[in-house]
Amino acid sequence: MQQLESLLAFDRQHIWHPYTSMIDPLPVYPVKSAKGVYLELADGQRLVDGMSSWWCAIHGYNHPQLNAAVEKQLKSFSHVMFGGLTHQPAIELSQQLVAMTPAGFDKVFLCDSGSVSVEVAIKMAFQYWISLGNRDKKRLMTIRKGYHGDTFGAMSVCDPVGGMHHIFEAVLPQHIFLPEPISAFTEGLHPTDEAQLEQAFAAHHHEVAAFILEPIVQGAGGMRVYSPAFLRKVKALCEAYDVLLILDEIATGFGRTGELFGANHADVQADIMCLGKALTGGMMTMAATLCTDQVAMTISKGPSGVFMHGPTFMANALACSVSLASLQLLESYGWKEKVDGIEASLEKDLRPLFAHERVKEIRVLGAIGVVECHQSIQVAAIQKYFIKQGVWVRPFRNLIYIMPPFIMEEAELGLLCQVIAGSLDCLLYTSPSPRDRG
Ligand SMILES: *Cc1c(COP(=O)(O)O)cnc(C)c1O
Repeated sequence: MQQLESLLAFDRQHIWHPYTSMIDPLPVYPVKSAKGVYLELADGQRLVDGMSSWWCAIHGYNHPQLNAAVEKQLKSFSHVMFGGLTHQPAIELSQQLVAMTPAGFDKVFLCDSGSVSVEVAIKMAFQYWISLGNRDKKRLMTIRKGYHGDTFGAMSVCDPVGGMHHIFEAVLPQHIFLPEPISAFTEGLHPTDEAQLEQAFAAHHHEVAAFILEPIVQGAGGMRVYSPAFLRKVKALCEAYDVLLILDEIATGFGRTGELFGANHADVQADIMCLGKALTGGMMTMAATLCTDQVAMTISKGPSGVFMHGPTFMANALACSVSLASLQLLESYGWKEKVDGIEASLEKDLRPLFAHERVKEIRVLGAIGVVECHQSIQVAAIQKYFIKQGVWVRPFRNLIYIMPPFIMEEAELGLLCQVIAGSLDCLLYTSPSPRDRG
């Protein structure tokens, strides 16, 4: 076995981590094992995981039921091409997805990552209108402060300031951005939001194929929470003006916000929906794009007669098996009670931090807690502090946020919040911030 030092030296010199420089990479910490809500580093340090590995590991790590699902499938086969072949794991997962998603989502496209599922959704929307002979609807409409992934189509609807538009502006398609909603979660539709939505739809509907947004919680683009009334208004305008609605539930799906899906807060039915992240319980990469019968039939009746997409690792059998196991697990242990319990803990322990002079706003919804500071945070320095205190939390820009595994107990939640509270007194701030994602 190579010495850890030399492995880390190779890592620094040769391996890209997310959003890093090859000249001056931020430190990375080697993980030796992970179990339940704990990560264990190579030096033996145990960390309470506040991130669920970017929204994914909702049942914690190394879960015996998820491991068993992979092992069982491994004995039959791990992957076969999905062109011309099919298999029970894909069929059973799709049955489960059709059953548990809001009514109307009838057709399932299984793909390999969240970004790809957004690409698929966007392609479905454009192909829908092309199939109807409408060549004018060539643009998308969205709201600022969104995040939809890092591939080109997805990137083109990410927040134009916080995202990567400043680098890629010249080569990105130009979509229509509305301001981020100001209607608060607990309130109705703010008149400013209403006016902006109505104006944008009236001005652009003829050229807009679809409105795409994250329902209720905007994740990595700014960790914002907005009113269900805003989503209902978007839906009503989509209907009135003949624009498709794409809900990106990749972060919000599977209970994270306190409802099974973000859309459930508003009781809104979309035309296309993206799922990913927690789908496999964080075990491996897998995503899905669901659409209504009408979208699927229209595409299929169009000039090409088929939906033009098919990734090599589509419907990977290991990923399908573990996804099904993860969804069954979710239904088996009363996730709603657990998420509500986490929400109550975060309300109790994070909400009071609003009194701190460095805090601009506290946001809590479901198993999501956000401390927005007035200034940007030095990620490397605060990371070191958190690790010393025994927690894994990774802030970005001016946001310290957690979305713990649903199985986390009161004591560990308390520690996470206590360490975050302590960090406010010794935070190192910087401006401008190093780029990162949430
Ligand atoms: C993470 C995320 C994506 C992208 O998913 P990847 O698996 O990272 O490609 C898309 N949309 C939302 C809302 C996300 O949170």
